[in-house]
Amino acid sequence: MKYISGHQSRGRISANKGKTWEDMFGTEGAKRMHEALIQHKMGKTYEQQYGIEKATLIKAHMSQMRKGRVGTWTGKTFSISHRHNISRALTGRPCSEKTKKKIGDAQRGDKGSMYGKKLPEWHKQRMMEGHRNKIKGKTLEERLGKKRADEIKQKFSKIHKGQKGYWNGKKFSLEHCDKIRADRLGKSYEERHGPIMAAELKKLQSEWIKNNRIGEKNPNWLGGKSFEPYTLDFNKQFKEAIRIRDNYTCQLCSIFEDDHLQLHSRRLAIHHTDYDKKNTFPQNCITLCMRCNILVNKDREIWTKHFQDLLKKLYGYEYTQDQKIILDFTGGNNG
Ligand SMILES: [Zn+2]
Repeated sequence: MKYISGHQSRGRISANKGKTWEDMFGTEGAKRMHEALIQHKMGKTYEQQYGIEKATLIKAHMSQMRKGRVGTWTGKTFSISHRHNISRALTGRPCSEKTKKKIGDAQRGDKGSMYGKKLPEWHKQRMMEGHRNKIKGKTLEERLGKKRADEIKQKFSKIHKGQKGYWNGKKFSLEHCDKIRADRLGKSYEERHGPIMAAELKKLQSEWIKNNRIGEKNPNWLGGKSFEPYTLDFNKQFKEAIRIRDNYTCQLCSIFEDDHLQLHSRRLAIHHTDYDKKNTFPQNCITLCMRCNILVNKDREIWTKHFQDLLKKLYGYEYTQDQKIILDFTGGNNG
């Protein structure tokens, strides 16, 4: 610690000006001076230190400073280009937790700069668009950094493992199911999930098929004429073929088989749309998850119609007005 003399004797030309206490008093002496100074100031009021008159002045000055009236930056503004420079220099600089909290608190609720303001619709759209472009084609790690990405992934895996699944206890209305269906119809995985998720899903699916597809061992089963000859056995092969036809997804809520396995430790179920287990035809069977399968136990007639319409739309199957299956034995359009 070095003290430059001359500070105390401001205004006078001191013979010792520019010399340190060490120069003047030696190391030991300087140390004693230092201690004495601390002793002198510690626990003392401004009045005790400087006398009433000077203390009053100092206090008034400090109070003015605190009120911001004479702050260094008071009333001054930066030019836009200078602000940009500062912002650029600060971008990406790590912030301490304390600072983050401060910033967060300063913007929270009615203190936020956007509080009570409404953006015009086009502005919102533009912001969403910008956000989408920003995250497009990027992994979680690229977007948020490894630490945050791991956090999020852990959170999701917890949700998937535990009983807190997003769909727990939730039900779709028929209209909503139709909406989901219409949204998915004719769209590729890429369009539905984005390039990265799609690649991931395809990988999962191809692995799944490689490991589990019985059809491969039995080429006649899944060749061009998928469901010939029609079987009346509700066996492993048949169920597998239905799952493959339905892309290993629940045809109501779109949950993927792999997620279903993680969530419920069982595979997607095959549901008879007319509730008659004897009618084991592709035209009468559809892939559903456990929850949707339970859901469709009520309002049976509505569901039969819903699934028949759906299968007709997707695969060109035919049904009569009173919801009987028209079997097509030419094997043409069951793909
Ligand atoms: Zn489902």
